[in-house]
Amino acid sequence: MRRLTRAPNTAIAQIWVDLLCEGGYPATVQRQFLSGVAGSLPPDQCLPEIWLLHDEHETAAQTLLSELARVPQRRWVCHACGEEIEGGFEQCWGCGALMAPSD
Ligand SMILES: [Zn+2]
Repeated sequence: MRRLTRAPNTAIAQIWVDLLCEGGYPATVQRQFLSGVAGSLPPDQCLPEIWLLHDEHETAAQTLLSELARVPQRRWVCHACGEEIEGGFEQCWGCGALMAPSD
């Protein structure tokens, strides 16, 4: 097992893990629990981490994620929380809302 990266929230983490698995790089989401402060922070303060099952996939998996973030190039602002989203995501990583249809 090797930690690949940290995701902004669990929804994004699950999307990344699904893509990694589809790409042939088995991965799982692991919650990072902050020791000693359980109960004093909202759950979304414990950022999910992406862990690869096989260490040797690290380079290829990072390439896959970086390509995911780069293509297509676009930027939008979440209608629900105002978060600015970059890259190929159609879901807000601030609140999880889906991108509104272009008007
Ligand atoms: Zn949002």
